[in-house]
Amino acid sequence: MKLIGRWCAGHEDYELLAPPQELVGQYPTEQKRAIVEYIYFDTNSVDSFARMLDTYFHKHRCVFGCGTDWTGTSMHISDGEWVWPVHLAHYVQQHDVMLPEQFIQHALRSTDEPKFVEHLDRSQIDDTYWLQWCRENRSYSETEVIQAIRDAQDASEASRLASINEQIKKLERESGICDTPCRYSGCSSMALSGKAFCAKCIVEKH
Ligand SMILES: [Zn+2]
Ligand SMILES: [Zn+2]
Repeated sequence: MKLIGRWCAGHEDYELLAPPQELVGQYPTEQKRAIVEYIYFDTNSVDSFARMLDTYFHKHRCVFGCGTDWTGTSMHISDGEWVWPVHLAHYVQQHDVMLPEQFIQHALRSTDEPKFVEHLDRSQIDDTYWLQWCRENRSYSETEVIQAIRDAQDASEASRLASINEQIKKLERESGICDTPCRYSGCSSMALSGKAFCAKCIVEKH
């Protein structure tokens, strides 16, 4: 079964999977209504132990920040040929997240009613089509995601620098500074007492 509607979960898989914000487009009104109707599934109609467990362990908040939460998000719906997570209908209906044309045409033609997948067998899922479609259709412009990645990098760089400064100050406090210049070429600081180099050079070059 071809999987659709799998999103990037964090910075680690950003290259592989798109966040839905990068797949926003525009559907013809009637087409959108028909697709949403096809992919929507009311999970309240599923009465099983699996659903109860799922409700506990899988919570998902809409990544567009509209305030919608779901429980049971590891639950999938399938028509035998395609399979998708239960929250996909929300992303299409509320946020105009686009889906592959091949799936859209299938959904518009299909007379079958998609069913809840009680136990999703990972070995039956093929996500290669989805991954390729995302690569070809995503905008790579999700500024919030990109910004979050930058912020995380900046924060780790800032904390690295802070820790270096901390070490330098600690060395200077503990060893004291002598009146001979640091021997590192181009450095104009005074060396640590009894050492050839200054604290900064010792920390940064080692
Ligand atoms: Zn939403
Ligand atoms: Zn130095």
